[in-house]
Amino acid sequence: MIRILANDGIDPIGQRLLEGAGFTVDTEFVPQDQLPEALQNYDAITVRSATKVRQSLIDACPNLKLIGRGGVGMDNIDVEYAKEKGVAVYNTPASSSLSVAELVFAHLFTGIRFLQDANRRMPAEGDTKFNDLKKAYAKGVELRGSTIGILGFGRIGREVAKIAIGLGMEVLAYDLYPFDPTLEVILGGGIKVNVPVKVATKDEIIAIADFITLHTPFLDQPVLDAASFDQMKKGVGIINCSRGGLIDESALIAALDNDKVSFAGLDVFDNEPTPRKDILTHSKISLSPHIGASTNEAQERIGTELANLIIDYFKN
Ligand code: NAD
Repeated sequence: MIRILANDGIDPIGQRLLEGAGFTVDTEFVPQDQLPEALQNYDAITVRSATKVRQSLIDACPNLKLIGRGGVGMDNIDVEYAKEKGVAVYNTPASSSLSVAELVFAHLFTGIRFLQDANRRMPAEGDTKFNDLKKAYAKGVELRGSTIGILGFGRIGREVAKIAIGLGMEVLAYDLYPFDPTLEVILGGGIKVNVPVKVATKDEIIAIADFITLHTPFLDQPVLDAASFDQMKKGVGIINCSRGGLIDESALIAALDNDKVSFAGLDVFDNEPTPRKDILTHSKISLSPHIGASTNEAQERIGTELANLIIDYFKN
């Protein structure tokens, strides 16, 4: 009997698929420090981003045959080490791209109309300050005709571009590697059109874009630091739904405070799950707690894909 610990949960559809294939699935969360002991009884573990599967855990669990990551980023797993030890590692890279891209626009629409601040201040200040707040938020902008710069043009970057094109935005795209700039955009009524984006350098995006959104993997160095903010257009909006560490958070706060950056939308942070207080309380930052993939649709796709990968592995 194959036993699987779904330590960060798994969508019920995925659980049913695994159980239908004759596997046992436990979904009760085991804290990180208890995993070396608990995992002795399992053939596989599935995680999202919370549980870490490091070298020491892999060494402590010789029965472990498979690590499944529901989602994209594998920075919580020592992938190469696991493979060296003969442990299979799978993720579900495409399942959440659209959900993350839509969250980018949730933050973008929030920032251009000051909703992050309005949501905090209206209940607190009540109707006595209604007209003051109305004045404070009088200088919103529209997205149509504006330019969005996408740093990292992989699965999520491309979904962001498609939505941007649908909104009538200009798209500048940069990636470390050459890429096909033409996108198939699906419009209402199932109409499909092929639309090219403009290929740009990182420096061009930093200098020209009205909005900049990050879609690279986690990197050792921030993609945006103090020097990058200095070179940006005044009033630029910044979105990071990719990974904490891709933006120098202190430089971002400074750029928000000196009005170089008009707002930021952040789903990811240097210190998860306890981001800096000045980030959490900043009136120009729209926040979400790393929920890029947290939609019913994405979780169903992730659960199904992961279950099928695990079934294929153990049945073949
Ligand atoms: P992807 O691999 O499809 O795309 C990443 C792209 O970044 C690739 O095209 C790659 O060539 C490019 N790249 C790598 N290094 C670069 C660099 N230095 N400069 C410019 N481009 C570079 O990955 P994806 O599925 O689009 O995911 C992107 C990121 O989103 C990952 O870090 C992932 O962890 C994160 N993510 C976040 C959430 C969330 O909940 N917020 C959910 C899913 C994924």
